[in-house]
Amino acid sequence: SKKVIIVGGVAGGASAATRLRRLDERAEIIIIERDEYISYANCGLPYYIGGTIQERSKLLVQTPEMMKKRSRIDVRVNSEAVKINTLDRIVTIQQNGQETYEENYDFLILSPGAKPIRPSLEGIDHPRILSLRNIPDTDRLKSMVDLDTVKTVTVIGGGFIGVEMAEVLTERGLKVTLVEAAPHILAPFDDDVVPIAEKEMQDHGIRLLLGDPVAKFGSADDNTVEITLKSGYTHQADLVVLAIGVAPDTAFLQDSGIKLGPKGHILVNEHLQTNCDGVYAVGDAIEISDWVTRIQTAVPLAGPANKQGRIAADHIAGLPSRYAGAQGTSILKIFGLTAASTGSNERTLRRLGIPYHAALVHPGSHAGYYPGAEPLTLKLIYDDQGKVLGAQGFGYDGVDKRIDVLATVIRLKGTIHDLTELELAYAPPYSSAKDPVNMAGFVAQNDLNGMSPLIHLTDIHDRDPESTMLLDVRSPQEYATGHISEAVNIPLDELRERIQELDSSKKLLVYCQVGFRGYTAVRILRQQGFDVANLTGGYKYYKAAS
Ligand code: FAD
Repeated sequence: SKKVIIVGGVAGGASAATRLRRLDERAEIIIIERDEYISYANCGLPYYIGGTIQERSKLLVQTPEMMKKRSRIDVRVNSEAVKINTLDRIVTIQQNGQETYEENYDFLILSPGAKPIRPSLEGIDHPRILSLRNIPDTDRLKSMVDLDTVKTVTVIGGGFIGVEMAEVLTERGLKVTLVEAAPHILAPFDDDVVPIAEKEMQDHGIRLLLGDPVAKFGSADDNTVEITLKSGYTHQADLVVLAIGVAPDTAFLQDSGIKLGPKGHILVNEHLQTNCDGVYAVGDAIEISDWVTRIQTAVPLAGPANKQGRIAADHIAGLPSRYAGAQGTSILKIFGLTAASTGSNERTLRRLGIPYHAALVHPGSHAGYYPGAEPLTLKLIYDDQGKVLGAQGFGYDGVDKRIDVLATVIRLKGTIHDLTELELAYAPPYSSAKDPVNMAGFVAQNDLNGMSPLIHLTDIHDRDPESTMLLDVRSPQEYATGHISEAVNIPLDELRERIQELDSSKKLLVYCQVGFRGYTAVRILRQQGFDVANLTGGYKYYKAAS
């Protein structure tokens, strides 16, 4: 029988172990886990600190005893793999930080995950600067947050974990500041739509300090951290949560002969095999291929880690399973708002020089005449042939299912034309006869086939007033409450009568509130021979992004 050692007993490691047992009753399976816990719910940790999840035990999805009983897996906690000899197939294991012993293997699966980045900044060792990765981190953070004396918190980093922590701590009544080095939070989203998330945070009292990295930490005393930003701005907090990203936890592999990428990720083939015989790697610690762009990248998310664990186990058991890549589908709750994305965003495509188009729609989450409909914002990114490359969504209802539909279409290599044809579940409480996903497809199709070409914020900002005319087709009341400067107002319903007011020698840039009336205006004007395009997402988008 095979002897399989798995390093790391959480998302990827635990999935690999249990899958392998289901495929092979005779294999000897050993999990080596550095911490005291295995198979815990990393993704639930912020919600336990925040108090939504009340019982700590709920975070412990599996215990070593449960795994032993159900799956006959030998789980060794407080055990760290400190060295791998890939030639003789031996792992050196250190127990409780003390004595070491060796264990040989036929197959090795590495799932050591990624650890929070701790930059070597002045003052970083202050006892009140904490990160969140595992259960001990959670206990430390929670005991700190539970103190009555902790009233102000600064979260460093506006990624998923930073934003979730800012949210849950605000809900607990703490005063939260979030510091982000980049001009905006949440890098998977583009700069034009992510202000929706930033506004939600500010509306709930979170202070955002954007585009200003931390320069150093200081301490007024043991209980107060002083945070100085690059701009020179200094403030104090009772607690700092450091969440500026993660790095693969692969230092122990340095001399193993296992090939690592430039940032220390383990390199694997499509079966998740490393360059060393019998050694597989999965999860946050590996480099994978991006599903859309095919470039090598890392996607430190639970879905990919779990799937990869299963695939490595399959391959060891003789099944031909392959990992085809990750598209980074992700979702986040920010108070009432849901933010979700899948595939590539504009920033990535621009960086890689991949041409693309983008459309924005603001349909209702379900039929407007049925109570409770909420507008949602969907941004769709596609190439010249209409292939869907990415999508981002924000809203208070129904965002998750739209992004999941779009994620599925991307996985099946679908196009915007497919989006127009998707037949999705509809009754008034759930959707509209034309679902927001269909709507995004229609808008994109009209853009690509020239029926109603789209323009974007940059086209408005960079426009040449000599050769273009800005036309606002909303009502005079809407125009009066705010409009893009220099726009001429002709309401859609008066457009046919007042068409002579337009200068046919200029390109017309039309906008309305969300893009729908603008589309109708474009159709009227194009049939009269005007060169005209519609601002995607309308004034609502312009306003949100400005
Ligand atoms: P991990 O789950 O990190 O497990 C690695 C394990 O290996 C660790 O327990 C570590 O102690 C152990 N280990 C490391 N080195 C050694 C060694 N040398 N010897 C022995 N053991 C070792 N993803 C989502 O998709 N959605 C979410 O909502 C989400 N929320 C998250 C919230 C938080 C606070 C965190 C920290 C992560 C979140 N993630 C989320 C990410 C997700 O948890 C990870 O992508 C996933 O756990 C990765 O699985 P993994 O097996 O690669 O690594």
